[in-house]
Amino acid sequence: MRATASEEPELTDGFHLVIDALKLNGIETIYGLPGIPITDLGRMAQAEGLRVVSFRHEQNAGNAAAIAGFLTGKPGICLTVSAPGFLNGLTALANATTNCFPMILISGSSEREIVDLQQGDYEEMDQLAIAKPLCKAAFRVLHAEDIGIGVARAIRAAVSGRPGGVYLDLPAKLFAQTIDVVKGKTSLVKVIDPAPVQIPGKDAVKRALDLLKGAKRPLIIFGKGAAYAQADDAVRDLVEKSGIPFLPMSMAKGLLPDTHPLCAGAARSKVLKEADVVMLVGARLNWLLSHGKGKTWGAPGTQKFIQIDIEPREMDSNIEIAAPLVGDIGSCVTALLEGIDGSWKAPSEWVDGIKAKKDDNIAKMAKKLSQPKVPMDFHSALAPLKQVIKERPDAILVNEGANTLDLARGVIDMYQPRKRLDVGTWGVMGVGLGFAVAAAIETGKPVLAVEGDSAFGFCGMEVETICRYNLPVCIVIFNNDGIYRGTDADPTGRDPGTTVFVKGSRYDKMMEAFGGVGVSVTTPNELKRAVDEALSSGKPTLINAVIDPAAGTESGRIGNLNPQSALKKK
Ligand code: ADP
Ligand code: MG
Repeated sequence: MRATASEEPELTDGFHLVIDALKLNGIETIYGLPGIPITDLGRMAQAEGLRVVSFRHEQNAGNAAAIAGFLTGKPGICLTVSAPGFLNGLTALANATTNCFPMILISGSSEREIVDLQQGDYEEMDQLAIAKPLCKAAFRVLHAEDIGIGVARAIRAAVSGRPGGVYLDLPAKLFAQTIDVVKGKTSLVKVIDPAPVQIPGKDAVKRALDLLKGAKRPLIIFGKGAAYAQADDAVRDLVEKSGIPFLPMSMAKGLLPDTHPLCAGAARSKVLKEADVVMLVGARLNWLLSHGKGKTWGAPGTQKFIQIDIEPREMDSNIEIAAPLVGDIGSCVTALLEGIDGSWKAPSEWVDGIKAKKDDNIAKMAKKLSQPKVPMDFHSALAPLKQVIKERPDAILVNEGANTLDLARGVIDMYQPRKRLDVGTWGVMGVGLGFAVAAAIETGKPVLAVEGDSAFGFCGMEVETICRYNLPVCIVIFNNDGIYRGTDADPTGRDPGTTVFVKGSRYDKMMEAFGGVGVSVTTPNELKRAVDEALSSGKPTLINAVIDPAAGTESGRIGNLNPQSALKKK
């Protein structure tokens, strides 16, 4: 209780109403960076029992909040200062929205009266207007008695339907406003059923089942929406009862183990080309699936699509969806299961054909992984990490980079849902350490962050945050002296090439600077030993893994997106 003089009525203020509103709605952690006007909000939130995790840059705090949202299904909260801090957090908010992660960016802002007259306030900016087109919803609260409603609206907007990022603008003056404590308490809103189930229509379910059961070569594609939905048992039953092979998108890996007999990950090209009915479950037909057309897929008209998604407007976004199934994944999959009672199974000819292709590819990869090289190439460094995750399937793998991302995605098998966190829909670099911090805090599990040296550069200062909070995070940097490779040169001979970094950099020293463990390794055995030790000890660790600067290809596996390669094709 915030009492003033004993004979006066008890008052509460904007600060405490924000904190109370978050707590009432089950929010336990705030990721942010202090400064004007939210420094005291952070302090008071900590004093009131919320966990407040302070970062070195708002973008990393925002990424932490976003992935906390993905992991928990509750909106992750990011708290920033006005204009520049807000803009730094906004990148993460836009990225969260693009990835369908629930997140709320709360930023302090300058005085409306001055901002709207453009009179040049400290950090003046019309933040609400700027945030609006970049997120799912944006709200501003001007009066203390509206804080409860403002927070409730933000929470509901973030998690209901297709999840996404929400901006909540809180002007500095709001925090110091006082109102009667009882009035304040009754103004708070507990959001009931923030993400209501959405039951699919009966006809839509029948349409999907008819199509599926008529298929000769059915395929299920799981996207990160399926991982987010936390309908893990229903999803597993669907695969096992129907016997349909499945392909996990990157962050859906582990929903069923990558080593599951029906996992078609190692026969990706074959199944995308040859399937006659494809069921998308929480996956979009965006660039990551070649928009459902072109060389990756079968001839036009030979493949029919079923799509399960909570967002009706996702249907037909790229190609015709023959059986749209709109609803939440748990409800949709459960409804389908009622029609798949074991009497129907995916044709064995198709399943066996996939197995043959898979076994072949897995054997080829095993051979590649069994030939360690020094200096290490990417496969030599990934082989021990593949083994680490096999031995510790509950560890969380954070992964970003170009080659470091593309190759790790294929090589490292995942065994449990929501254990692989990566660059997502935009392929954005720099999410790694924010994700690692939140993953450790939200799950309490050890985190292995496998980072390209370039990707690490976007968020590297957060090693201090990891040491400060003493988090069980082991960062492995694949250090090949540059972006893609470390061999580029300036044709004029004046400067370093545009894609290279200081040769022989020792990133491990950065960790030592803050009291963490730093190790530099040059062989697969040294790498395995160092990671094992880090994950067993739980000590913040950074392993500088020296990779051959000549290993690695331009833009990893998406070099085709470079305009130069389009020119070359002509
Ligand atoms: P990926 O990149 O793994 O293919 P996407 O991000 O493209 O995954 O797709 C995720 C999809 O999942 C989005 O279209 C989103 O609307 C959907 N989605 C998210 N949560 C749910 C849910 N609970 N139920 C149904 N669909 C969901
Ligand atoms: Mg590199």
